[in-house]
Amino acid sequence: MQNEPTCQYGMHRYNHPASMPGEFDFISWIRAQSPNHPRVLLPQGDDLAVLKWDTSDLLIIGVDQVLDTVHFDSSIHPPREIGRKVMNRNLSDCAAMACLPAGAVTTAALPKGTPFDYAKEVYLGMKDAGEKFDCPIVGGDTATWEGKLVLTLTILGRSAGVEPVTRRGAKVGDSIFVTGPLGGSLLGRHMNFVPRVHEARAIAAAGVSAMIDISDGLSRDLRHICEQSGVGAIVDATSIPIHEDAVTMSRRDGRSPLEHALHDGEDHELLFTSSVGHPSYVRIGRIVSDPGIFIEAGDKREPLEPRGWQHTF
Ligand SMILES: [Mg+2]
Repeated sequence: MQNEPTCQYGMHRYNHPASMPGEFDFISWIRAQSPNHPRVLLPQGDDLAVLKWDTSDLLIIGVDQVLDTVHFDSSIHPPREIGRKVMNRNLSDCAAMACLPAGAVTTAALPKGTPFDYAKEVYLGMKDAGEKFDCPIVGGDTATWEGKLVLTLTILGRSAGVEPVTRRGAKVGDSIFVTGPLGGSLLGRHMNFVPRVHEARAIAAAGVSAMIDISDGLSRDLRHICEQSGVGAIVDATSIPIHEDAVTMSRRDGRSPLEHALHDGEDHELLFTSSVGHPSYVRIGRIVSDPGIFIEAGDKREPLEPRGWQHTF
């Protein structure tokens, strides 16, 4: 995003018409987008949505929000990317639990004077991202106010034959894996990542003991697994897959690419532990009984301090 001139995607580009025609016009437009989906029994337009639910499915539910200037910058990021991000963050949480998304409800607090076309773009970003993973938006609410753009999205997940994978199952002797290269997501991937929903199902089928999606940074998210599982971890510095964005960031700020890979957030790759091999993914360490998280390179071993994502634009 640093490459974009300021305000390229600001709301002034969507002044057709100049402002929202009204909350109800937006809502009726949204209703016209209503999903035609076998799980949605009653389309939007009633007080609540009605979903068909397989009685053998567990309901796995979570909510996430994105705030202008915290999780995105509306003067830099196009509205479709902003909408996509709030959906994809939730889909990534589905991946972390190895469940399948079933539907979502969402709210938008729009700044007064938001152009109608801008609001539509935000919605379409969410909708398109959801549809890629069979996750229709089944309801929501919108209002305008004096503040900045705020989106929330509540996701409904279904177990679909796979026991939810938690953060608390890591066992001594397990290997630690990641699904992809890490670091430097702030260069753009934090808006454009692909949630690892399908990969998670395959990982669960092959054998997994604990899993999380990397949102706060490897050093923090591995700690979440270790603390909840009552174990420690030793990470092999030479095996951490480093994204080329981490190298680019390193040239800019002088922190090493490895530091970026260990501590940057919002990669949304999966971090998981398993007693079996996962040849498609990178083994970065092992679970040990002694509490604490250490990083080793050759015969040098030191504590891996948590220095994850702190939301700084
Ligand atoms: Mg998460």
